[in-house]
Amino acid sequence: MASHVVGYPRMGPKRELKFALESFWDGKSSAADLEKVAADLRSSIWKQMADTGIKYIPSNTFSYYDQVLDTTAMLGAVPPRYGWNGGEIGFDTYFSMARGNASVPAMEMTKWFDTNYHYIVPELGPEVKFSYASHKAVNEYKEAKALGVDTVPILVGPVSYLLLSKPAKGVGKAFSLLSLLDKILPIYKEVVCELKAAGASWIQFDEPTLVMDLDSDRLQAFSQAYSALESTLSGLNVLIETYFADVPKEAYKVLTSLKGVTGFGFDLVRGTKTLDLIKGGFPTGKYLFAGVVDGRNIWANDLASSLSTLQGLEAIVGKDKLVVSTSCSLQHTAVDLVNEPKLDKEIKSWLAFAAQKVVEVNALAKALAGQKDEEFFSANAAAQASRKSSPRVTNEAVQKAAAALKGSDHRRATNVSARLDAQQKKLNLPVLPTTTIGSFPQTMELRRVRREYKAKKMSEDEYVAAIKEEIKKVVQLQEELDIDVLVHGEPERNDMVEYFGEQLSGFAFTANGWVQSYGSRCVKPPIIYGDVSRPKPMTVFWSTTAQSMTSRPMKGMLTGPVTILNWSFVRNDQPRFETCYQIALAIKDEVEDLEKAGINVIQIDEAALREGLPLRKSEHTFYLDWAVHSFRITNCGVKDTTQIHTHMCYSHFNDIIHSIIDMDADVITIENSRSDEKLLSVFREGVRYGAGIGPGVYDIHSPRIPSTEEIADRINKMLAVLETNILWVNPDCGLKTRKYAEVKPALSNMVAAAKLLRTQL
Ligand code: GLN
Ligand code: ZN
Repeated sequence: MASHVVGYPRMGPKRELKFALESFWDGKSSAADLEKVAADLRSSIWKQMADTGIKYIPSNTFSYYDQVLDTTAMLGAVPPRYGWNGGEIGFDTYFSMARGNASVPAMEMTKWFDTNYHYIVPELGPEVKFSYASHKAVNEYKEAKALGVDTVPILVGPVSYLLLSKPAKGVGKAFSLLSLLDKILPIYKEVVCELKAAGASWIQFDEPTLVMDLDSDRLQAFSQAYSALESTLSGLNVLIETYFADVPKEAYKVLTSLKGVTGFGFDLVRGTKTLDLIKGGFPTGKYLFAGVVDGRNIWANDLASSLSTLQGLEAIVGKDKLVVSTSCSLQHTAVDLVNEPKLDKEIKSWLAFAAQKVVEVNALAKALAGQKDEEFFSANAAAQASRKSSPRVTNEAVQKAAAALKGSDHRRATNVSARLDAQQKKLNLPVLPTTTIGSFPQTMELRRVRREYKAKKMSEDEYVAAIKEEIKKVVQLQEELDIDVLVHGEPERNDMVEYFGEQLSGFAFTANGWVQSYGSRCVKPPIIYGDVSRPKPMTVFWSTTAQSMTSRPMKGMLTGPVTILNWSFVRNDQPRFETCYQIALAIKDEVEDLEKAGINVIQIDEAALREGLPLRKSEHTFYLDWAVHSFRITNCGVKDTTQIHTHMCYSHFNDIIHSIIDMDADVITIENSRSDEKLLSVFREGVRYGAGIGPGVYDIHSPRIPSTEEIADRINKMLAVLETNILWVNPDCGLKTRKYAEVKPALSNMVAAAKLLRTQL
């Protein structure tokens, strides 16, 4: 009975690691305290998997911050600015790289493939002196062994490690990261030797970059690397694990011919085409680790269907060579359903978090071996059936309305420049109009108010009065600052997706469904389980209340459909675009109600539009088409005089600029100040942008207060590239995480800069 788990969440069922880390960072607990929490988490996970019956249990899947940073530590590739002097890397150096310290900023962080997890990007150059500087993988293997659990240690594979790195600052363009392969392999060999000596019989190399679009040089690097490792690896079983998509045909050929490799792991949930490749040929005598249990979602597996897939595969690779596995590390799903006592019973029966997925993997493996747990399978079948037929999932009117959208286009009737003229007549804004992105500082007091209201410790009347009071303060402040287009400050919102999810039907919420985003940070995505509709207006009351307090235009503030989709756990029983269209229709209703209530400017945030971009280029067009279409659906019905804004907090737009233009918003505000003008270069290169655009003039992620001159200088640089009449002046993103002591002077300088430049035009 062969079962395997690619990796497991580190945070703990109640975010124990988060709290231990943060307390250690704050100097409130010792390194030993932190190590104790970590060791307890690891041992409980190993025991749980062993008790369940999992054969190939992973180790080194734990991390104090990030597995790529762990690999950087293993290789001793510490950038010189952290002043590391050799020896085993300790918490000091490790956390300085992760988070920066008083004198040096952190290393860059970026998204791990198309997940919401972020890794620390290695900075490499020809000068890096690699050395074996973290024995974590070996230590964890030994630690598990001492607890009586023989594990499969996991390493980020050498080629993926290099492909996920970036050249260090100042390294010449001619430098190729892959040229470092020969320098890092000796360290990998040392690790492998130690693992062998410690008694390991399997080792797993994660090489997820194999699912990307790789040219032949890059593919070649895999053959080179594993040939070089072959003799060291001999005597060990070697698994190369891929995930997040199917492995392209060429990569599959390279992968399955790697020397010294015993098994190959594939994501069979997202990588459905891989199945055909396997059917077309799989090397004899090798193990297939079949990732049929979804590590990216929270749905219970359809065990009957997985079993039949597995039986098909068994016929190809042989009974003793098939291993049931997860599609990827379970770190991308929530930890344990046990901690959701309040979740509706029926919905709960449709779900499986990491702990439950481990049980599913095991049940499938047992069934393949002829020991099917009939009771477990029939309970699962009943839950699958109830999910298919439950009236809470299906809303026929919504299905029909969403189906009717497909194939047809939705655009506002008038073109953007005519619309902007009509809006200007109504709004009468100065040139270089100023605005903010939506949220204002969320004080402790505000959080207390929301918490007490939610816990029913505060009456509705008291709550409304408190929020109104806050809105009034925010409105007054903006008037004093002389900002042109105001916001209400979003004091009633805890989170820009949760706020809407709670009011839309088809969404469920967990108490502990946390997923690591980076370091100690976790997110708790809502679960979209059914057809989405909007029973009643969601923001109209607050927006009209705010508008009644000022004669200046007040922006209605909504989260767009693509962002709601990308930041939720999404249904797997219909394509993503269908769910997105449903959300778009719900937001459309809200947009139209806001317009009817007299709100003339409406911002529809699409902070996460780029995030959903598929890993492979061949799939980009399809995604962008439906994502942009969904956005347009939300506002295609408004009058010319209603100004639609959108906001995106991501600076890499250049590759999707045409899709952004195609969103056909009247004004877009975007993050810009941290991206070294990358954004502006698009326009410099001649892309014409006719709509209003507000590239952020200062970074809200830092407490630093920008001076008027500095902001004016930024605006001037923009004016050199963009036409004066389309430029807006605004910060990079919402101000929710900042303090008033920072926000007031920063916005005051921003407005002063805009006014200064107006006099010079
Ligand atoms: N309107 C939101 C805010 O200001 C936008 C946040 C975001 O883009 N992430 O907080
Ligand atoms: Zn933003």
